Amino acid sequence: MSKKKTAVVTGAAGFLGSHLSDRLLAEGYKVIGLDNLITGNVRNIEHLAKNEDFDFIKQDVTKFIYLPGQVDLIFHFASPASPIDYLQIPIQTLKVGSLGTHNALGLAKEKGATFLIASTSECYGDPLEHPQKETYWGNVNPVGPRGCYDEAKRFAEAITMAYHRFHNVDTKIVRIFNTYGPRMRLEDGRVVPAFIGQSLQGKPLTVFGDGSQTRSFCYVSDLIDGIYRLSQGNYHEPVNIGNPGEMTVLQFAEKILEKLGSKVPITFLPLPTDDPKQRKPDISLAKKLLGWEPQVSFDEGIGRTVTYFRDFLGIHA
Ligand code: NAD
Ligand code: UDP
Repeated sequence: MSKKKTAVVTGAAGFLGSHLSDRLLAEGYKVIGLDNLITGNVRNIEHLAKNEDFDFIKQDVTKFIYLPGQVDLIFHFASPASPIDYLQIPIQTLKVGSLGTHNALGLAKEKGATFLIASTSECYGDPLEHPQKETYWGNVNPVGPRGCYDEAKRFAEAITMAYHRFHNVDTKIVRIFNTYGPRMRLEDGRVVPAFIGQSLQGKPLTVFGDGSQTRSFCYVSDLIDGIYRLSQGNYHEPVNIGNPGEMTVLQFAEKILEKLGSKVPITFLPLPTDDPKQRKPDISLAKKLLGWEPQVSFDEGIGRTVTYFRDFLGIHA
């Protein structure tokens, strides 16, 4: 039997990192998860505790990363991802996007490993091009409250390309658009857990602004499939992965109420500074390059997510 390949996942105890670890284990990798648990939770990976192909190390990846032995693939997913999180911990956000990415790239160079960075649609800022293609350079306010996240990710992309061009590291960049599913934190402030949690708990839905801003929501298994395919290929420029099914935030709120048969009211709160007015991925590149497109419908994905939060809250339908 051939020896298993080893993948490192930074941010493994987070929402996406834990699903990615599951997928890599299913694909026959050994996985080493690194996380300092600043926004993640070991609950997300406790089902892997007895898996002999999975190791977890509590580590802040802004500090030097030492790992003995062979590493074949590094997925750098560590970073706060919810606007509420990165507004509360802007410096840690900047550090993990810059120093953390530098350390993870250094590890990739040292080990001769492939490196994949979780970048974001936030690189497009409040986009003036719609839908967003990878060739769009974006409209980011570097000094606004979201700048700590957006600019850290833009730096992360730049240093990743520099390691590719200068050190010949095999790198990949995925620009992730709003993704949702089980294992999101109920209180992380992102709109999907916020609205589902509020309606399950009989609280008003908090729509920011007039709710006319748009987002396009991708179910987590679709995203992870796209990322896995990207990691196995030979393409080094950024690739959008997301679901182009666009809706306004108000439409999203109404769909959640309808889906849950909930009668809670909608309250309108101030729109956060620099909240992007529209967002929708152009996924033609991912389709062509990876033969990938989303498979899970909005209804199905939301249904699975609601089931997860019901269980989490101990609410039985
Ligand atoms: P998350 O907050 O659930 O997970 C991030 C994980 O990184 C957490 O477990 C956290 O503890 C860990 N982490 C943060 N700083 C760290 C550090 N210095 N050292 C070690 N671990 C650290 O968020 P998520 O939604 O799973 O996002 C994962 C990645 O995907 C992030 O890089 C994020 O920017 C990117 N992304 C996510 C989305 C989305 O819709 N979920 C969209 C765009 C980009
Ligand atoms: N939003 C909202 N109510 C909430 C949380 C978010 O109306 O309780 C809006 C937010 O202003 C944004 C959209 O929902 O326009 C998506 O927000 P999220 O924090 O999920 O991610 P973003 O795409 O802004 O990074």
